Amino acid sequence: MLTNYGYRDGSGDWFVTVDTDKCDGCGKCVEACPEGVLQVIMDDYDDEVVAVKEEHRKSIKYVCGPCGANRPCEVSCPQAAITFSW
Ligand code: SF4
Ligand code: SF4
Repeated sequence: MLTNYGYRDGSGDWFVTVDTDKCDGCGKCVEACPEGVLQVIMDDYDDEVVAVKEEHRKSIKYVCGPCGANRPCEVSCPQAAITFSW
């Protein structure tokens, strides 16, 4: 399943997508993120998966912007489970 966190505004689509079939909740992306955007949660199926923290979901364009194209979260993920819409 694909879980999207983010929003669309006049400047574009700003979504972080977690593929919950690929994500095993290892937490490597959480450790790699310099802004504390991510956390491992239990999903509705009692599986550990990564999620964007509630407080960052409406500002993802700004909080993730400085990472540019070489995002530590993406680079650190062994499953390629976290992707971005921009
Ligand atoms: S893009 Fe950067 S700030 Fe955003 S979740 Fe990934 S590592 Fe964290
Ligand atoms: S590094 Fe990848 S597999 Fe591990 S918690 Fe993050 S998104 Fe999931």
